[in-house]
Amino acid sequence: MQCSESGDLVLLGGTFDPIHYGHLRAVEEVRQALGIARILLIPAGHPPHRQSPWADARHRLEMTRHAVARHPHIAVSAVEIERPGPSYTVETLRALRSERPEAVLAMVIGMDAFLRFDTWHDWEEILDLTHLVVTGRPGWPAAELPEGLRQALYQRRCDRASALRAQPAGKILFHTVTALEISATQIRSLLARGHSPRFLLPDVVLDYIEAEGLYQSPSPLPKDQAP
Ligand code: ATP
Repeated sequence: MQCSESGDLVLLGGTFDPIHYGHLRAVEEVRQALGIARILLIPAGHPPHRQSPWADARHRLEMTRHAVARHPHIAVSAVEIERPGPSYTVETLRALRSERPEAVLAMVIGMDAFLRFDTWHDWEEILDLTHLVVTGRPGWPAAELPEGLRQALYQRRCDRASALRAQPAGKILFHTVTALEISATQIRSLLARGHSPRFLLPDVVLDYIEAEGLYQSPSPLPKDQAP
């Protein structure tokens, strides 16, 4: 499919603790299916929905930058890391939208995250600011949706990837991506046990992890539970 060379963007936010091929392949497949030229990765500074990340924000930002350095169509935004307070997606999207009022924005989230999407800050506004592309992920079967989400889906569901290019925001698309059963949790656990996560993530990211001695502790405690 031909790609638009506008300000259109496929977005993926995450803790990226560390970034791995599950993230990268999913967002690239969505980009190709939608026919959008560019991807923006947005590492979260202080994710409101989960425990504190293991690695410092500056390391997670650097690892994400290293992962995509050879791919000029993928950019990394430091906005959530630089913004104080919890990393609310809605604030990031308001800023992006004010810079690009007409652009197509399509935010990728895994099915696991979508099932809790109605707990995100101002989640209905998020749906007005961007399309949502929900990707199937191994190990997360479709479950019963909360009522609010079911309503939103009824009004906004769209079944053709190419249809998302017809308007800047507002649709929800379910899109199956190649099942790569990789998680950052698994990678951290391998490293903490002295095993190599090689080939689950880009070599440059693993080189960075080793050079900085990240995720080495045998039983690391998250920062918010550290003594
Ligand atoms: P952790 O194991 O620490 O919870 P994670 O690997 O799930 O981390 P996140 O940074 O929390 O990674 O994920 C960011 C986004 O990427 C989420 O929407 C998540 O659903 C999606 N994602 C993560 N891993 C995969 C994968 N293997 N395939 C497809 N999507 C993924």
